[in-house]
Amino acid sequence: MPSRDENNQEGPDVRGNLIKINVGGESIFVNPNEYKPKVAKKPKAKSQTVRMPKNPKPGEWKSEDYSLHKIADYKPFNFVDGEGVRCSLYVSGCLFDCPGCYNLAAQNFNYGKPYTQELEDQIIADLSQDYVQGLTLLGGEPFLNTWVCLKLINRVRKEFGHKKDIWSWSGYTWDELLQETPDKVEMLKKIDILVDGRFLEAEKDLTLQFRGSSNQRIIDVPKSLAAGKPVIWDKLVR
Ligand code: SF4
Repeated sequence: MPSRDENNQEGPDVRGNLIKINVGGESIFVNPNEYKPKVAKKPKAKSQTVRMPKNPKPGEWKSEDYSLHKIADYKPFNFVDGEGVRCSLYVSGCLFDCPGCYNLAAQNFNYGKPYTQELEDQIIADLSQDYVQGLTLLGGEPFLNTWVCLKLINRVRKEFGHKKDIWSWSGYTWDELLQETPDKVEMLKKIDILVDGRFLEAEKDLTLQFRGSSNQRIIDVPKSLAAGKPVIWDKLVR
């Protein structure tokens, strides 16, 4: 007759080296030297891909393929789109698709209203005011609306020569524009200031003059063409 063990059971104490654990509401005995609890795996975080603006190859996007000659907005006598008092024309349509774009509606080439001779005459009349320093072209993407922009630029030069300056914003960089289609290069050569480059959220800085992200530059176009490299606007403070 086997002696009684410490658990007051007959026979060998098979549980002597075991410990009692609770798994899913059920008590089981396990060897603590061998038992490896199953740890529920954390679900893997979905890999987060940061969306970036599009990067066209030189000449890939042609203004004549996309532009519908539409205008998202016209703002005469404003102080925010460059130096001094300015008349700003916002053209419709842009393909860069920058996350955080400040003017989403104007990415659509069909947004707004058609550019008309009447509007052009109004812009010229507004620019003729002595206190107006110049014209600003922005959007959307002015360099994908070269028919409208060149028509207006040529008229401004005809009426005012270089007494009024012309600024333009573009998602293209200076170097990209120089490798672009002839209409874009012609437009670049006819303006005074280019604010270049896509808007990059990672480089967003609201303290910058006339720019949303620190990769963008305010470039003096005539000086840059003469120097053969981008020359930054000499009134840049920040
Ligand atoms: S280039 Fe300018 S208008 Fe075009 S998507 Fe980027 S921020 Fe918007």
